[in-house]
Amino acid sequence: MTAENGRANDDQPMRWNGWGDPERAKPLPRAVQALLPLLLGRVRKPATPAELASVQLKPTALSSEDLQAFCGVVGDDNVSTAPETRIYHAGGRSTPDLLQRRKVEQDAPDAVMRPGNHEEVRACLDLAAARKIAVIPFGGGTSVVGALDPVRGAQRAVVSLDLRRLSGLVSLDPVSGEAVLAAGTTGPEAEALLAEHGFELGHYPQSFRYATVGGFAAARSSGQNSAGYGRFDTMVTGIRVATPTGDLELGRSPGSAAGPDLIRVFLGSEGIFGVITEVKVRVHPVPQDRVFEAWSFPSFAAGSEGLRQVAQHASGPTVIRLSDEAETAVSLAQVGKIGKALAKGASVVTVYEGEGIALRRARTSELLRAAGGTSSGEGDAADWMRGASTAPICATRCSTLEFSARPSRRQQPGRICRNCAARSRRR
Ligand SMILES: Cc1cc2nc3c(=O)[nH]c(=O)nc-3n(C[C@H](O)[C@H](O)[C@H](O)COP(=O)(O)OP(=O)(O)OC[C@H]3O[C@@H](n4cnc5c(N)ncnc54)[C@H](O)[C@@H]3O)c2cc1C
Repeated sequence: MTAENGRANDDQPMRWNGWGDPERAKPLPRAVQALLPLLLGRVRKPATPAELASVQLKPTALSSEDLQAFCGVVGDDNVSTAPETRIYHAGGRSTPDLLQRRKVEQDAPDAVMRPGNHEEVRACLDLAAARKIAVIPFGGGTSVVGALDPVRGAQRAVVSLDLRRLSGLVSLDPVSGEAVLAAGTTGPEAEALLAEHGFELGHYPQSFRYATVGGFAAARSSGQNSAGYGRFDTMVTGIRVATPTGDLELGRSPGSAAGPDLIRVFLGSEGIFGVITEVKVRVHPVPQDRVFEAWSFPSFAAGSEGLRQVAQHASGPTVIRLSDEAETAVSLAQVGKIGKALAKGASVVTVYEGEGIALRRARTSELLRAAGGTSSGEGDAADWMRGASTAPICATRCSTLEFSARPSRRQQPGRICRNCAARSRRR
């Protein structure tokens, strides 16, 4: 067994108790610090967070016999009960998760297993079922819904199944425009592998850098290009799954009308029905052209109406993103400008990629203008695109709510933010 800190084969380390690359960490600008009480109410100075070495965990509930059995499946180097490894797999990256990571006493999985292929995943599930051990699939660890919490339920222990060793491009069919990717392949790895063949996935959630293809599927991820290429669940045409009662291979052709679509059962299931080991997805040629345009609206409500018109008329931007008044005011979405410019209203970025850009842009611009939007050229939109995946995320659960709230409840984004902050304080 290994006692390493963090995870194997990780060339992009993420902070154990925070988000992003520690090398790029910067303090929050004073202007933003000054705005926080206005947005969130009274902000107390946080207590000093626990150091990694001082975190206390209960000893593993697994017996040496359990551990030997798992070692027999995945190899000694791929089973770990090291406290650092267990803590790294103790939860996701939402604000409540990160508040948990600041505590001295924490809960964590009893061990972390790293299977290297579908058969090893299958064997781990068989062992766990026979020994009454709960299993939590773990991709990039960027969950924001508490789905990686080490919940034992009725089982006597819980293990984290880290899937990052299942990485790579399994196959690519340029004729049907489909690729099969191993589930533990991260966003950047997937794009680099496909780019070698002139293709791309074009799926960019803000967690792109660390999240995995299996995680995109299990969490029905949505990304900045989803207006153009669809949410991840609409891109999936097949999956291979290991479940506690057997294997499934679903989706043999790009489209099928034969019976209920069982793939949908697994998309968004957060790993509760089984472990996805391969994902077949639609891919497209890397676009040659890209055009940016930024817009401003007098209010978030006016901007929402503009975006609704664009969505309902399917006018064709690849990216369309609305910032609320607070995010616009501190340029929070643009990493280089945070806190430097205090803009009014609500800003929108649009990006067009691929074919027929002039026509799609003209249709979209007409709708945005009719809803009260004013174009401010390409500058801000291009800046946003460059910084999108590295911009700070102030309350990650809010960004997920953003995708799910009904339009009528989205007119007061500040209220969602405060509710989220209150939940974080309670946890
Ligand atoms: C800063 C930040 C920004 C984010 N931005 C976005 C965004 O723009 N859009 C968006 O949709 N989400 C976003 N998220 C949420 C999260 O990144 C996504 O849900 C992502 O798809 C999770 O992928 P992952 O590989 O990290 O999965 P994990 O976090 O490791 O797991 C997520 C869930 O899927 C299960 N799971 C993981 N892999 C598998 C598998 N192979 N088989 C079965 N179950 C599995 C886990 O058990 C868990 O329930 C963001 C999160 C953060 C922290």
